[in-house]
Parts: sequence; structure tokens; C-alpha cells
Amino acid sequence: MSDTDVLIAGAGPTGLVLALWLTRCGVRVRIVDKVAEPGTTSRALVVHARTLEFYRQIGLADAVVERGLRFAAVNLWAQGRHAARVYFGDMGAGISPFPYMIIFPQDEHERLLIERLRELGVEIERPLELVAFEDRSDRVVARLKDANGGEDTCEAAYLAGCDGARSNVRELLSFGFPGGTYARLFYVADTEATGPVMNHELHVALDSADFLGVFPLKGESRARLIGTIKEEPNIAHDNLGWNDVSRSVIERVGVDVKRVNWFSMYHVHHRVVSHSPVGGQGMNTGIGDAVNLAWKLAAVLQSRTHERVLDTYEPERIAFAKRLVATTDRAFQLVASDGPLARFVRLHVVPRVLPPMFASVAMRRFMFRTVSQTSIQYRSSALSVGGAGDVRAGDRLPWIKFDDRDADNYAPLTTLDWQVHVCGEAAAGISAICGARGIALHAFPWQDASRDVGFERNAFYLVRPDGYIAFASIGGDSANFERYLDAWAVRPRLAHQLEHL
Ligand SMILES: Cc1cc2nc3c(=O)[nH]c(=O)nc-3n(C[C@H](O)[C@H](O)[C@H](O)COP(=O)(O)OP(=O)(O)OC[C@H]3O[C@@H](n4cnc5c(N)ncnc54)[C@H](O)[C@@H]3O)c2cc1C
Repeated sequence: MSDTDVLIAGAGPTGLVLALWLTRCGVRVRIVDKVAEPGTTSRALVVHARTLEFYRQIGLADAVVERGLRFAAVNLWAQGRHAARVYFGDMGAGISPFPYMIIFPQDEHERLLIERLRELGVEIERPLELVAFEDRSDRVVARLKDANGGEDTCEAAYLAGCDGARSNVRELLSFGFPGGTYARLFYVADTEATGPVMNHELHVALDSADFLGVFPLKGESRARLIGTIKEEPNIAHDNLGWNDVSRSVIERVGVDVKRVNWFSMYHVHHRVVSHSPVGGQGMNTGIGDAVNLAWKLAAVLQSRTHERVLDTYEPERIAFAKRLVATTDRAFQLVASDGPLARFVRLHVVPRVLPPMFASVAMRRFMFRTVSQTSIQYRSSALSVGGAGDVRAGDRLPWIKFDDRDADNYAPLTTLDWQVHVCGEAAAGISAICGARGIALHAFPWQDASRDVGFERNAFYLVRPDGYIAFASIGGDSANFERYLDAWAVRPRLAHQLEHL
């Protein structure tokens, strides 16, 4: 008997969400972190719609929305002139129950996750460092070291390395972390300030040699400033501080900084690990990785899905991580590059091209889908079979709000279980299979919105516990449906719980 089902190394957002989801599924976890206290700095600020959708499934979204700050517009400044304001308050309307972005600093975010875990009876064990582990095929034996150098072992069915950008687990497994680090040095400063940009909107100011990003924070006159530091040869990075930041772009947009609450410098990494949850590639991606892994681990540990479901984790997540790095790479090169072409594009092309582009509703919706991670799909996954209407297996379940009631088709996802959705009427054969196997069947009234998002009337969609479509078909395709359920040994949580009564 193992000490625990899953040992989680690292209590950053990725590890905490993994722990929460697994605990909600009834899986025993231990979560350790080598650092004595949770982080106290704001780091990742933005929580995207897809993350909020996942959080709604585990009863966390309302707290994040309440404690965070919604922001509705991005402003572009070029050489001190206000060049454009892009309003995207309604950008995601009809796409997600959370059609906006939330600013919620990472330290507060982690505290909330820790609070929720504590309510479920899980305490983070810290300082406790994973120093080594041995894979004994049926279990993992991990060596954990405390602050006094004392060592203990922990046996677990699975070990999840959520230990961030400097991952020990990755090193011990000899997985690569290909990529590199941008040469420029960036700063980030949480400030109290005044000026026209302190209006709870996002501002990006481009200058010939520099740039400034202003992210609103909750409360009056508080904002996160980010920019670059000019690298002087022979300068010791340890001694750099707020006073070394180039003032020109800050002054040109009229920011008057009264107080700096936190200042940090960093090189931006553009890397993606060839395995395991990604650290340092954006918090929302790590949380998405955690959710993808959590339901699969829970299902395997509880014998509710075939073990090879775990092999689908990496192919499903790695494609997006690689695309993300490539896109942010290009964006960073444009914003931060010193070259004359990049400077011309930044100062003359971007301010002219962006505003008309964003005047288009279609373009705003495209942007929302991309940025909010709601367009991530797993169509080429081995788990995805079939399609009906415009919805293919592997797609995120399209969201619809019902006309006549204060409800939507995401409400049943809180069971964290396999389920079948039908817009219209379910074929008798499908109802019978669901009934026999204990799979919840939700038949929603057909309405215009169902067609608008791509559903096919009376088709059925088998939804995975993380809200992606696993199998879809029109009419009563019972034989293929049963074949799919048998191939993946799908057994819902409900059936599993009943068997254990
Ligand atoms: C200045 C700054 C600004 C940032 N801004 C943004 C932003 O705006 N948006 C964004 O999306 N992201 C941003 N990030 C990145 C964001 O902080 C990370 O993406 C996020 O923290 C990743 O979460 P994680 O849980 O994967 O890893 P981490 O938060 O790095 O957590 C890993 C945890 O593992 C622990 N650990 C490590 N090794 C071991 C071990 N051997 N045993 C036990 N525990 C171990 C560490 O102590 C740590 O607590 C920023 C980062 C910094 C530093």
C-alpha cells in the first residue's frame, strides 16, 4: 500500500490546482514544496476565461471573479501619443460565461487555492524538497528532505512534477527543456502612481528604444509596470533597482510613480519541456496542464478509464505549449527588439493597423478565443472520435446559455464526470446505454444558440470530465458509442461510487 496515491512536488498554481482537482475526485494526495512560505509577490496577473471555466467546475470561479479586477480595454501609445483604445469588454460575449479577463495577482491566487485545499483537509508540507526518486514500475519511491537536512521517503502510485521552471523532476528524468532566454533584461514593478494611464485599463506604450506595459491592479492608483532595462556592459545585475529603469517612456505617457512596492528583474525564457507540466510558460497554461492530468490520474487510480488515457496527456498539451512559445516569441521580438525594421513596425505600422483591425467584431472574437485559451482543442488526440454539426470530438464543449432560464450547459460539469449532452431529444438507444452504464444524460432544449455554436439537433456528445468532447455522433449510433466506451473502459464516477457502497 502506497503512502499516498499522488505525490505532488511543487505548490505553485499548477501543483495546487492538480491537488484540488484530485482531492475533489476523492484521490489521496501529498503536496510538498521546498520553500517555507508561499510566494508574496504578484508575478502572473491575468486569469483567462478557460481557467475560470475550469475553476467553476471545482467551485472556485466566483471567488476569483469577486476578488480580482475585470479589465475591459487596451490602449496603445506610440512615442508618447495615445494612438488607439481597443475596447474588448464584450469580446467574449456568447463564447464563455466569463467573457473577460481578470487581474488577480499570483500571491493572492495561490493563497485562495491553499485556503480551498485546507478546507478539503489537505495541508501543503513545507519546507520539504523532493531530492530523488526511484521508479519501481508499480509505484514511485521519493526521497524528501526537510530544512534541517532530515530525509524521509514517500511511496506513491504517481509522482507529479509541478516544480516549475527549474524542475528537479525534469532533471532527474533527463527530459530536455529546449529553448532559450532573451538577451534583454526586463523589469517588473508593482507601483502606486498617478497619471492618465491609471484608469483600470491596460496600456502599452511603444517608443523608439523602449516599451512600457501598464497593468491595472485592484484598488486606486495601483499598477504593474513592465519594461526593459538597457543592458550596460559590466553592470552588476544584483545592484540594479528602480532608479536604473529608463524614465523616458514612463515620463512621456505621464506616469508619476509615488511608491514602488515590489521590483524585480528577469530574463524571459522561451522554452517548452518535452514532458510533464510546463513551468514558466504562463500560469494559465500550467493550470490547463494540471486539469488535463488530474481527471486522467483520478480515472486511472479509481479504475474508471483505461490506463493508456495517461498517454494522451502529453500529445494533447504539448502542441499548444509549443504554439504559445512561438507566438509569444514573435510578439516579444516585435515589442522588445532594437532593430530598425522592428522599430518602424512598432511605431508606425502597429498603431495604424491595430485600431481598424479591432473595430471588427469578428476580429475581437478571434482575439478573445486565442488569448482566453478557449480555442484550445484536442481534435487529433487518440481520445477524440467523431463529430456532429460543426463540433468535432476534441473541441471544448461550446457554451450556451438558455433563453428561458438562468442556466447554461456548463452547469452539469461540476460533477467532474463523464456525461452525455444532447441538444433536442436523445435517441432511445443512447438513453438506454447511458442508463445501463450510469452515465448522466443531459438533454437540453434545442434553440438558435445551439445551432449558432455548431451543435447538431438531436446529436449526442460524450463530454470528458474536463469539458472537452470525447465522442460525438448524429442520431442513435449506439454500436460505435458502446465500442468507444469499452475501448477506453469508461466508467463514470457515479457508477464507481455506487459499486463501493
Ligand atoms: C516576475 C514574474 C512575472 C510573471 N508574470 C507572469 C504573467 O504576467 N503571466 C503569466 O502567466 N505568468 C507570469 N509569470 C510566470 C508564472 O509565475 C509562472 O508561469 C507560474 O508560477 C508557473 O506555475 P507553476 O506552478 O508551474 O510553477 P512555480 O510557480 O514556479 O511553482 C513551482 C513550485 O515548486 C517548488 N519546487 C521546486 N523544486 C522543488 C522540489 N524539488 N521539491 C519541492 N518543491 C519544489 C517551488 O518552490 C515552487 O513553489 C511570471 C513570473 C515572474 C517571476
